[in-house]
Amino acid sequence: MQSSVLKSGNSPAFPKIKISARGAKRIKDGHVWVYRSDVAAAEGVPPGAVVQVCDERGKFLGTAFYSGASQIAIRLISRESVGDLTDLLRERIRAAIAYRERLVQNTDAYRVLFSEGDFLPGLIVDRYNDLLSFQVLTQATDATSVRETVLAELTEQLHPAAIGERVEPKIRELEQLPARSSGLVQGEKSTTVFAMNGVRFHFDVKEGQKTGAFLDQRENYAAAAQYARGEALDVFCYHGGFALHLAQAGCKVAGVDSSRPALEVADRNAALNGREVEWIEGNAFDVLRDYAKSGQRYDAVVLDPPAFAKSKRDLDTALRGYKELNLRALKMLRPGGILVTCSCSYHVSAAEFLAVVAEAGRDAHRELRILESRTQAKDHPILANVPETAYLKCLIMHVSN
Ligand code: SAH
Repeated sequence: MQSSVLKSGNSPAFPKIKISARGAKRIKDGHVWVYRSDVAAAEGVPPGAVVQVCDERGKFLGTAFYSGASQIAIRLISRESVGDLTDLLRERIRAAIAYRERLVQNTDAYRVLFSEGDFLPGLIVDRYNDLLSFQVLTQATDATSVRETVLAELTEQLHPAAIGERVEPKIRELEQLPARSSGLVQGEKSTTVFAMNGVRFHFDVKEGQKTGAFLDQRENYAAAAQYARGEALDVFCYHGGFALHLAQAGCKVAGVDSSRPALEVADRNAALNGREVEWIEGNAFDVLRDYAKSGQRYDAVVLDPPAFAKSKRDLDTALRGYKELNLRALKMLRPGGILVTCSCSYHVSAAEFLAVVAEAGRDAHRELRILESRTQAKDHPILANVPETAYLKCLIMHVSN
């Protein structure tokens, strides 16, 4: 982490918070979170404050955002002392943009800022062509002064036509933040068209699930399109991200999703690209079972379900869900077919996911070769010392027999 300001020493401006030896070790080991159970003394520290983090002996460890509600009480923003938060925010945003300029290609839609991955915990910003969408996840980043600085810097750097805020009520509730509604906070334009890898998509800053589009899959769309041929099925297709990339690669594609509004956008996206895709509304598990039974076969199947494991407790159920889905998909693939199988559950590790897909291969009596073992796009940076920043798995498999 780079620091904007003073090289070392404690800034007198921010309140001090003491953490346990275990918490201090975590910080020294490169992580950026300290759990509430490791906060030793936080008397008088207001919720959402910027704090100086110290060990039990009072030794300075870094500057952080404090939450009075979350189990993650402390999120480090710098390992050094910070003189002026506004300067730090501006510097982090400029660095995040510079990183994308260097590493993000073939798109006008990408994640501009990815919370911890860009050393600015609790803040997410996405760009869709001329529109920006942001999300605040913590008390500290919800502060009016932080919001104003962030919006001003984004406007100065990226000149968006409008900026919308995407609110997840559940997150605000957990952070004990007052309810707020999603919507435009700057400008009036709320819809646009963006492109990734030459495929065009509609975007509505006021609609859609979570982030509006799954930008984290952008590089995986292009990778999948390299291998897929013939008849393809995109399961959990949402707005048609994989489906339309496969159609562009010459496949005859069908997409399955349980959400009618998502399929309506998918259909508009197909028209925008001059493609014909068959959209099927239904529960993926049922559709796969029925299709497999009726002898329907494909040359490529994509599985990109929602996170099955929302917490560690769900792990076993999640693994069973992935196994079942992959098993059903494998039964429908022709010899030489391609399976693109994803998991966005952080709690399921890459190794566990591969093991479950391999097991499905054994049970289906199919020989699987790993063509690519992939993760989230580079605009969702993974910090080497913060495993929680890595969540997406995408395996591209060749099914030999
Ligand atoms: N592949 C998409 C993202 C998928 S997100 C992309 O690249 O853009 C997960 C999708 O699964 C959502 O669109 C959601 O509506 C859908 N979904 C959730 N549960 C489902 C189920 N049981 N059957 C079918 N679709 C489901």
